Amino acid sequence: MTKQKRFILQEKDLPTKWYNIQAEMPNKPLPPLNPATKEPLKAEDLAHIFSLECSKQELDTEHAWIDIPEPVLDMYKYYRSTPLVRAYALEKALDTPAHIYFKNESVNPLGSHKVNSALPQCYYCKQEGTTNVTTETGAGQWGAALSYAAKVFGLEAAVYQVKISMKQKPYRSSIMRTFGATVEGSPSMSTRAGKDIITRDPLHPGSLGTAISEAVELATTTPGCKYTLGSVLNHVALHQSIIGLEAELQMEMAGEYPDKIIACFGGGSNFGGIAFPFMRHNFTGERHTEFIAAEPASCPKLTRGRFEYDFGDEAGYTPLLPMFTLGHGFKPANIHAGGLRYHGAGMIVSQLLKDGFMKGVDIPQLETFEAGLLFSRTEGIIPAPESSHAIAATIREAIKCRETGEKQVLLFNLSGHGLIDMTAYENYLNGDLRNYELPDEVIQENLSKLPHIIK
Ligand SMILES: *Cc1c(COP(=O)(O)O)cnc(C)c1O
Repeated sequence: MTKQKRFILQEKDLPTKWYNIQAEMPNKPLPPLNPATKEPLKAEDLAHIFSLECSKQELDTEHAWIDIPEPVLDMYKYYRSTPLVRAYALEKALDTPAHIYFKNESVNPLGSHKVNSALPQCYYCKQEGTTNVTTETGAGQWGAALSYAAKVFGLEAAVYQVKISMKQKPYRSSIMRTFGATVEGSPSMSTRAGKDIITRDPLHPGSLGTAISEAVELATTTPGCKYTLGSVLNHVALHQSIIGLEAELQMEMAGEYPDKIIACFGGGSNFGGIAFPFMRHNFTGERHTEFIAAEPASCPKLTRGRFEYDFGDEAGYTPLLPMFTLGHGFKPANIHAGGLRYHGAGMIVSQLLKDGFMKGVDIPQLETFEAGLLFSRTEGIIPAPESSHAIAATIREAIKCRETGEKQVLLFNLSGHGLIDMTAYENYLNGDLRNYELPDEVIQENLSKLPHIIK
């Protein structure tokens, strides 16, 4: 008999609540601060930017389990559960005794985990009488997911896409427009923040920081318009917990429990999504799972950043967030092709990293693409370059197992597929990519500009 390879939940067995790790963390994240007064924010302060429900979820340190609204659950059923897959072919290619599993979040038509949070964010906006939503997007996965979710719940969407990504990944803006969204390259001339940035630096390639500034400005100056965010914030990690909650049930079906859980790291949403539901058993001492967040060596906030209060955006419109950061003025090197370009880490993850519940590893660009190629050639799925960071970190662990003979169970999150990222693969295959190590001076220079609030 051949061994079972894919584990899928029946519709009736899908989780109906999200897991809010904030309620069970031994040390709660420090509060976000109002930049003018340095006072902790209340939900009302956030609600002029975000939907009220997301604002409440953001600051909810009480309720560990939050009901998934029925209409959202209904939409989840179009593509969930996503499969948990045992990567036999990858194991064989690595000649490792490790058991490698991956949670395949690439199987929805948008191609990444982002839609898990786009759906509830748009649903809550609609419920509260909002007519328009806006956001930023880098590579375009979040913009695509949001454009679709806005259409599902009858909202108009306006997306600011990082200018350089728009050039590198042209089809993503077509996807967003196909779902009915309007798309602008950031920095743009349509907002004050965009104009200021272009005046200072006419060739600014754009960053998530510039695009967030523009979207927040649009949301705060347009009646009936709310801002949405695809990563970094606590409520996004909450929605993404559906990944880990399913994975927990599916690992049970496979008759195993992961020793190590690995995910790539941009702002922390897919990492938190797969990791937090498992991490709750570490808090009680019942399990000792190791959690590894894989970031690019050219944007290393977890491994080389500092824990400080910083802005979430370039212009300084957002609240001050306690995070591991490279400084909000950070611009990733142009040579960097693998996504995960955001300057900071989410508040929850930052606290967990500080408290030793997880660790970060940084992966050089060429190792990332090498891992992506091996995974494509063994498992038949071309991974998003972002996800390839997780694959590379998993391969490192599997090779360690080969050397020690230890039969560990490894679980990683395949956050998305790479079928619209073929320009990056093309560049790699042509030998045009190289490694880039961020100089210490650049990090120190950026960090020296931060308000120094944590003593
Ligand atoms: C957005 C994205 C990421 C990075 O964001 P996180 O919030 O850190 O998960 C990773 N992989 C894919 C495919 C993405 O679209």
